[in-house]
Amino acid sequence: MCGIFGYTGPREASSILLDGLTRLSYRGYDSAGLAVVDDFGHLSVRRAAGKLDNLRRLVENEPVIGRQGIGHTRWATHGPASNVNAHPHTDGTGDVVVVHNGIVENYAELKARLTANGHQFLSQTDTEIIPHLVEELLADGLALEEAVRLAAGRLRGAHAIACMHARTPETLVVARIGNAGGIAVGAGDGEMLIASDLPALTPYASTAILLEPGETAVVRRDGFELRMLDGRPSTRTLHPVGVSSGAAAKGGYKHFTLKEIHEQPESAMSALHGRIAFSHGRAQLDEMPLPLTDAEARALTRVVFLGMGTSVHAGMVGARYVETLARVPASAENAAEFLHREPVLDKHTLVVGVTQSGETADTLQALHEARIRGARTAVITNVPESEATRAVEHPLLMHAGYEIGVASTKTMVNSMVVMYLAACALGQRREALGAEGVVRCVEEITRLPALLGAAIEMTERDAEDVARRHLNARRFLFLGRGLMEPIAREGAYKMKETSYIHAEGMSAAEMKHGPIALIDADTPVVAVAPRNTLYEKMLISMSEVRARDGKVIAIATAGSVEITAYADDVLWVPECPPLLQPMVAVAPLQLLAYRTADLLGNDVDQPRNLAKSVTVE
Ligand code: GLU
Repeated sequence: MCGIFGYTGPREASSILLDGLTRLSYRGYDSAGLAVVDDFGHLSVRRAAGKLDNLRRLVENEPVIGRQGIGHTRWATHGPASNVNAHPHTDGTGDVVVVHNGIVENYAELKARLTANGHQFLSQTDTEIIPHLVEELLADGLALEEAVRLAAGRLRGAHAIACMHARTPETLVVARIGNAGGIAVGAGDGEMLIASDLPALTPYASTAILLEPGETAVVRRDGFELRMLDGRPSTRTLHPVGVSSGAAAKGGYKHFTLKEIHEQPESAMSALHGRIAFSHGRAQLDEMPLPLTDAEARALTRVVFLGMGTSVHAGMVGARYVETLARVPASAENAAEFLHREPVLDKHTLVVGVTQSGETADTLQALHEARIRGARTAVITNVPESEATRAVEHPLLMHAGYEIGVASTKTMVNSMVVMYLAACALGQRREALGAEGVVRCVEEITRLPALLGAAIEMTERDAEDVARRHLNARRFLFLGRGLMEPIAREGAYKMKETSYIHAEGMSAAEMKHGPIALIDADTPVVAVAPRNTLYEKMLISMSEVRARDGKVIAIATAGSVEITAYADDVLWVPECPPLLQPMVAVAPLQLLAYRTADLLGNDVDQPRNLAKSVTVE
């Protein structure tokens, strides 16, 4: 995923920008660029497709001078990775420069309006409309910071932008819109920096803050000023930065786990980057390579997801995506059990391992076995170059960034995103999904970062209170139907991993065949019941619990007011397309587990007895 880095201070900016971009390069990118402005208002822009070395060489051959600048590594979504599409982008006057991370969802409509007003565009990016919007607002007499704030307010989607103007060479303006697109402001010794993440700031800044969604910052070499997009001032304290400073690495969050839950909109966006593209305002599947030719994809008779723990839950969702979108029978299994039961496999079976660390011994062994038995193999992992990537024909990377909390959160969401896109690609090749179907699915998933952000925000209002009300629970049951069944299982997993309270997750239909015997006043039942075709059935299960003195905590779609008659507590999520519900509904369950564990005083990041990479069988 792309990176933004900016500098304003007494030193020459270009080498600092190149160094900062190098620090962000682990996020992935396909082109890079920078803009530097000197004290006399002379602006220089350099852009190069491909690796940062190309930009570095360009800057060596055509040096730029100035003590303020912004740099960018781009991961193309709108238009190919070319020199003209690389950021920074400029306005019609050539004075406004912008770098941008994310997707402007309403760019087609904004571009049409700007074009009608006489603006001319040089690139195919959605980003280029931003400097032109700023240009229009400046022409109306607004100051740069106001113009950027107003322009940012007109962009739909989740992003981060950084902007500067040749005539105000001492000011950088940054904005974070929506929940994706993290951006930090760092303070050094007489200089200020901006960067997409805190580690990139470490060598330069001693203190930093991460902008909140909807926040903008005007950054000058001697300080910065925060405002919300609507102009209200905002104040927050800077945290120390440094490898040794846990607080800074945690970005102001109490635990990495909480930070990682909040990072999910952005990490989901990373999983989409480079895999979907937009042309003529419509989303398309771009790069989702599978280890199969079209003929092999059509001849496929089975897809099996293999993993352990949270990865199996993600796999259960993935299997349903494959059946729905590609119409191939699919299942998810515990890799360790699969391995030891002499599975029947052939070349028409695709076995997909799911392992966050890429080192899970059970999953690696099972993939090895699958290969020997002639199955086709792929793996979904978060760690490039990990053992798992070498064990299969084809690795699919999660692009979730570092996950430090031992209980997986963002890697699960990103696994599901990758599975969804892979299922679309398979459906497309098998002609189970027509061209319109693919576009519809891809368009739906571009909404995920914003929906996840909304779910996290809505849940955070109540999660701690709900957790506190059930802190003395003896155990929890988690119920779901259809796509929510694996999510109920995952909710139970998170609860037991972090709070050490016993929890079971299952199909709500299963409850009355046995687990209903456990229902009592000390056994809260979490019903994952967003609005979908199984919603009414969930209401029935919830009534069954309440009829036995059980307490119900519902996860429900905003607006489902009737559910309050069936539940003691409700955590709300936004209305969303049914196939996205697992990725959105998992967030409140993670937060419920986190808040419970934290209130109990547990070490949430490193729960007892657990390890992040389980490298033993
Ligand atoms: N949507 C923008 C583009 O395609 C920004 C992509 C990014 O986040 O790097 O240029």
